[in-house]
Amino acid sequence: MLNVPSQSFPAPRSQQRVASGGRSKVPLKQGRSLMDWIRLTKSGKDLTGLKGRLIEVTEEELKKHNKKDDCWICIRGFVYNVSPYMEYHPGGEDELMRAAGSDGTELFDQVHRWVNYESMLKECLVGRMAIKPAVLKDYREEEKKVLNGMLPKSQVTDTLAKEGPSYPSYDWFQTNSLVTIAIYTKQKDINLDSIIVDHQDDSFRAETIIKDCLYLIHIGLSHEVQEDFSVRVVESVGKIEIVLKKKENTSWDFLGHPLENHNSLIPRKDTGTEIVKPYTPVSGSLLSEFKEPVLPNNKYIYFLIKIYHTGLFTPELDRLQIGDFVSVSSPEGNFKISKFQELEDLFLLAAGTGFTPMVKILNYALTDIPSLRKVKLMFFNKTEDDIIWRSQLEKLAFKDKRLDVEFVLSAPISEWNGKQGHISPALLSEFLKINLDKSKVLVCICGPVPFTEQGVRLLQDLNFSKNEIHSFTA
Ligand code: NAD
Repeated sequence: MLNVPSQSFPAPRSQQRVASGGRSKVPLKQGRSLMDWIRLTKSGKDLTGLKGRLIEVTEEELKKHNKKDDCWICIRGFVYNVSPYMEYHPGGEDELMRAAGSDGTELFDQVHRWVNYESMLKECLVGRMAIKPAVLKDYREEEKKVLNGMLPKSQVTDTLAKEGPSYPSYDWFQTNSLVTIAIYTKQKDINLDSIIVDHQDDSFRAETIIKDCLYLIHIGLSHEVQEDFSVRVVESVGKIEIVLKKKENTSWDFLGHPLENHNSLIPRKDTGTEIVKPYTPVSGSLLSEFKEPVLPNNKYIYFLIKIYHTGLFTPELDRLQIGDFVSVSSPEGNFKISKFQELEDLFLLAAGTGFTPMVKILNYALTDIPSLRKVKLMFFNKTEDDIIWRSQLEKLAFKDKRLDVEFVLSAPISEWNGKQGHISPALLSEFLKINLDKSKVLVCICGPVPFTEQGVRLLQDLNFSKNEIHSFTA
């Protein structure tokens, strides 16, 4: 863990997949499989009936769309026209109709919170719910009041208009065991490095970069929550979700009390606090004869760090000069080398900087596991330029015939003739072709949280056991 004296950042922890709790499936008509749905969404057909236009939906409008052939559902503030999806829904049409014309967030969270609906229903997006009119006047006046849903804007700088569509907002939702705070930043270049989350005891604080300001959520929570939490970012709509785990499974009547500068935009400045973020150390190279480099006094540690120029943390790291200091914690993590014992087939699924844990695994596996016969790496990136250590990987695969490397791009240029897309059943079943009965297998997966969650779910669908999957979580 690196520690840069600047601002606080306890690592966002990733979440485990939630058990499905006996969800029932209905038989789907022919031509209504997940693949058929994906094909339809990519066909360019207008699935919302709005010709690509996004609108603000009022509660009254939402209520009107409550029939099978005209069914809108709101999930976490975003409204989807799910009519085209009805016949493809594994849980059946009736299940979807339970939320027709209303806010289906709670129902959705009860049944399959882990599903990446933003991606699955992206072509069905109608728009977002219109923000309810402000009820409170100023955050100073709010202090004695309680937070229950969306609050009005309070302190505003000159950078953004006081009102208007670009002002951030937030909302919260709960299930029996979780509380989700959703921040709608209304800007698209948001990533995990744009947010700092800090919570101690009942005080919760989240800072998000919005242009030259920080949008601050600062709340004294009404109930206790556990230490670990997760953060996910939906870049396409600029939404951040912070999921807290309740200490007790009770229903909260309100989120909490506003603390200083809550729900306000404040100019960015160095506040002199501390940022903490986990990174996986790598080796100096993939090609150093598969050995840790021998360096004077062994005092070297390598990190591979992507700088998000609009971020909060990595630009600070980027500004460090030789001679500056960062503090580094002792190692953390739960990967056990014993997983490699007698291993024959090793599959590595990495996305973006999720490649970093794979570096030492590759080095170790190819050097120290005599039983190993095959290592396959499927490496997901947006563009060719994003592929970390591409030429080293290609050289390594050329040198060691046990290694196969496949690159998959989600935003390639038209000349790219390799694999394309996101992690999917089709890509995985082709990649993981092995004689499972006869070999000892391990699949390691690391990348953005939705990637890892989806990957683990697909691996389980392909009958990989818990012991055969290791997911790295930040
Ligand atoms: P990125 O945004 O460049 O995305 C890389 C690829 O990930 C994309 O091409 C796509 O194939 C896939 N992807 C992204 N979002 C997805 C989604 N919603 N659903 C399915 N697939 C998706 O990635 P990046 O900016 O390099 O981020 C890498 C992530 O890996 C970070 O979130 C980082 O915290 C995490 N990470 C974790 C560890 C660890 O747990 N030890 C180590 C390194 C990196």
